Amino acid sequence: MINGEKTISRPLRWGMIGGGRTGQVGYKHRTGALRDGTYQLLAGAFDLDADRGRDFGVKLGVVADRCYATSQDLIAGETARDDGIEVVSIATPNFTHYEITKACLGAGLHVICEKPLFFTLAECEEIAALARQKGLIVGVTYGYTGHPLVHQMAAMVKKGMLGEIRIVDLEYTHGFNSGDDAAAGEAVRWRTNPKTAGPTFVLGDIGTHLYYLSEIVLPHIKVEKLLCDRKAFIPTREPLEDHATVLMHYNNGARGRLWVSSVDAGNMGSQRYRFVGSKASVSWSDSHPDQLVYEVQGEPGRILHHGMPYLDAESLAIDRMGALHTEGLGDSWSNIYLWIAEAIDAAKRGDQAFLRTHHYPGIEAGTEGVRWLANCVRSADAGSAWVDFQ
Ligand code: NAD
Repeated sequence: MINGEKTISRPLRWGMIGGGRTGQVGYKHRTGALRDGTYQLLAGAFDLDADRGRDFGVKLGVVADRCYATSQDLIAGETARDDGIEVVSIATPNFTHYEITKACLGAGLHVICEKPLFFTLAECEEIAALARQKGLIVGVTYGYTGHPLVHQMAAMVKKGMLGEIRIVDLEYTHGFNSGDDAAAGEAVRWRTNPKTAGPTFVLGDIGTHLYYLSEIVLPHIKVEKLLCDRKAFIPTREPLEDHATVLMHYNNGARGRLWVSSVDAGNMGSQRYRFVGSKASVSWSDSHPDQLVYEVQGEPGRILHHGMPYLDAESLAIDRMGALHTEGLGDSWSNIYLWIAEAIDAAKRGDQAFLRTHHYPGIEAGTEGVRWLANCVRSADAGSAWVDFQ
């Protein structure tokens, strides 16, 4: 159980780029980072509107002269200080991730970046090489992948409790973009423009969460081929999609189906995961994050509850709330931020042995998301053809 005990020598000096007062995801970063005393928020370029960003930063407790107008000012200002930040989180629209990450790594800062990480695989490879050369960590914030029941599913698959994996069924849908974008706010406008969103809308925005979580549960099987059908029900979003279905063939013969949509009218938003093997299945959804449904063929179904002693050690070790209370998204983000802090601490010590076995969503996780998106787009552009996964 995680109980706030310190696992690194001292808090990391932390800054944020983006995630300002009107940003959707900034609070999740601060919830994740500030919970265990592993990060201290000391600087930020929080907002495109510099005055609003400064006012916001000061109200978060950051001193005014460390609330910068731009990411470039932040990097220059902080690297000039002896007590400057060591790690920075990037919670800005997709098109800024690559340039800002490159500049931060170049200045010697560890980075925690939002997904989808970058636009292209070439950018991912370049940044991975730069991070390696500098001995710096790049973490990626896949929100729910720190949840104890996600790691319970992984433990059950690893122990063979499901048998051979046959079916992978993944869904992340909501209806928040069912209408047109005439009066849409900034967060929808940049998401539906390929210049600012990248090669996809919902596939990158929500599909990458499904894909990475499935990789955690099923590390032993890989996608071999896929077919992607994508569509913009609101035509102004073309060539991007607000709805997509992806069929996947895995290298053990398993079949996968993934559905993402932001025009699932009436749905307030849910992620659903179901992994079916030759003996049994597990299902988990963020609508009921405390519960895992475990069904063995020929036996009554079982609901496993987070934090209970019958779960595996991997799951219990990262539980925060205990079985009586809900364990949710904020708790998962805290785990992700803690794991990234431990990776940064190890990188600072040069502890390669620790880093080789330490689990956290890093540059490889971000890169695999971008790789999956590139394959989806290639398939869709070829008329929803089956393509070999490259
Ligand atoms: P948003 O448009 O709501 O907010 C973006 C914020 O960044 C705003 O505060 C804006 O002023 C600021 N900003 C924009 N450009 C900037 C720049 N160059 N320098 C400094 N600040 C800048 O966007 P959002 O929904 O919060 O999404 C941001 C990123 O987070 C996207 O990559 C998105 O895909 C990702 N996201 C991830 C999750 C998750 O669960 N991991 C959830 C939501 C969004």
